[in-house]
Parts: sequence; structure tokens; C-alpha cells
Amino acid sequence: MRRAGGLVGGVLMVMVSGCGTGSYSGSDEQCDTSTPYAEGDFSFTYNLDSSLPGEWVEEFTTIMGNLNEWAPVPACVHDVPEMSSPMNIYAWNGAVENPFPEKPDMQGASISGDGSETWMVLEIPEYDLTYDSLHRYSVIVHEYWHVYQLGLTRDNDAPTWLWEGGAKVAEEFYSQQEYGQSEFDNGLFPIMASGLSQPAAFEEYVDGDLDINYNTSTFMVLALAKELQEAQGLSEARAFEMILKDFQAAKLTEPDWKIAFAATFSVSPEEFYATLDQYPTVASDEDWFEGDVLDVPSLMPSKDLTFTDVLSASAA
Ligand SMILES: [Zn+2]
Repeated sequence: MRRAGGLVGGVLMVMVSGCGTGSYSGSDEQCDTSTPYAEGDFSFTYNLDSSLPGEWVEEFTTIMGNLNEWAPVPACVHDVPEMSSPMNIYAWNGAVENPFPEKPDMQGASISGDGSETWMVLEIPEYDLTYDSLHRYSVIVHEYWHVYQLGLTRDNDAPTWLWEGGAKVAEEFYSQQEYGQSEFDNGLFPIMASGLSQPAAFEEYVDGDLDINYNTSTFMVLALAKELQEAQGLSEARAFEMILKDFQAAKLTEPDWKIAFAATFSVSPEEFYATLDQYPTVASDEDWFEGDVLDVPSLMPSKDLTFTDVLSASAA
């Protein structure tokens, strides 16, 4: 999800998760993050354009089925304004113009809304389809994870690095489990180092010049997982589960994310940021990327750690 709110083609497009301030004041008894959507399963309506290859459509269906089984959207999604079931998903091959006249301003991949409805946008780049990039599938997991997060938090996306880094980690764990490979294999290259001198900046904005691919946010998530394993003796799976689920759910009762962070992880955000300077920064050795990057192979998750291991760690 790109935080690209603003006027697009004369229509106000709002990234739904960008609206969250944690100011919800309803009763918590109505919301149990451990149970799926209460009024029947949360469902999606698939609007899949014929420009997409049949192979993609088939895999899309498989992925959505897996995610619905492994991480059903929590019941708290009821409380997110303008979220309702079924949620429309619009997907097409980027080689063609947006084929959905009812939603004329869609582009890229996001969870978007217009103030009365929320939907998922999946414009699959032609490049990804032509070259069989795993991103053509992992982007589905990424955007689904944002819907899951919205349900888990009632729309409280702070801080951005844990929101986007969490979605990125989810998609890479899914790829590792289902396709036997992921961006962890190449050390998440490139992890841009330019923003690290002021990690708190990532609380507010992680994309743009500082973290164009969300890999710096993801690096911070991996560093936090390592910290939890080393300082608290958590298993690798449980550390990631705590980051992906427990922390997000904690914001339901404690909307101030810094307090929720300290309560969940037993370390304050500032204390955690101070640990990041142990990781080495080097000049990129790839021709196609110029600049300083983080070289942190020791932070990459175990190759045999699966998404389902992570999602069920506390139940194991
Ligand atoms: Zn995102």
C-alpha cells in the first residue's frame, strides 16, 4: 500500500489506513481479534480483468484461499468505517489501461477508498508477468495483509514502518513457504541506508526517497525480531508472530503505538532504535543501484521458517 492520498484525476482518493488515529472509542467487548469476522466470513468480490493470464488468475484464487484459511480477517473489521463485506478487488494487467470504468482513478497496488467504500487495487505490472517475477503473486499477499491489519487494529496504522514492514515480511514468508524462494534469499537488496541516521523518520513516512521499496522498514522489522529472540529468548516464529499480530492488536486497547510497543516488546521504540547502529552500511556493489545499503545477512529469517509457522507460533 502506498500512502498516496490526495487528488487523483479530480477525485479525492484516500488511503484508508492512512486515516487511522487510534481515536476509536467504542466498546472493546464487541471486538475479539482471535475470532474471524463474526457475521459470516469476511469475503471479497473478485473483479479480474481478462488481460490477466489464466495462470495468474488460478494462483490468485489459491493465494486468497490460503490466506482466508491461515489468517481470516478479524471480526474487528466491522468497526472500520467504510469497510464492508464483500470487499471488491480490482485486478488487471498493467499492459492495458484500467479496464474498470466504475473506478477510473485506480493505479498501482493499494487499499483505497472514496469515503463510502473501500476496495483493493491490483494493477499487475506487465514486466512482472512477462518475467515471472514472484512479485506478481506476493503483491496479493501484501495487500491482503493490510486488510487483515485493518481488522486487527480497527484502522490504526502507526507506525508506518511496522505496518508496511509487516506486510512485506508477510509476503516474503508466504513466498518462502509456497514458492521456495523470497527476497530474503538476496538479503533484501537493496536496503537503503539513507534514512537510518534518523530512524524515527520512518514512523511518519517510509516511502518516497527514504524507503522506496519498503526494505528499510523490513530491515527494522527483522532487527526487532532478532532483538526479541536474543533479549527475551523467544523462538523465531513467535518473535515474528508478536510483531505481525500481537503488537497490532495491542493498539485496540492502547491507541498510542509507542506505549503499545513497549508493553508488547518490553523495550521502548527509542531503545530499539538505538540498537540499529550495530548494523554495517556499505556502498552498493550492484551496477543498477547506487548509494549506501545495509548488508545484514545475519538478519534474514531461517530458510525453513514458514508463514504458517509464524501465524500459529503461540498456539504451537
Ligand atoms: Zn503496503
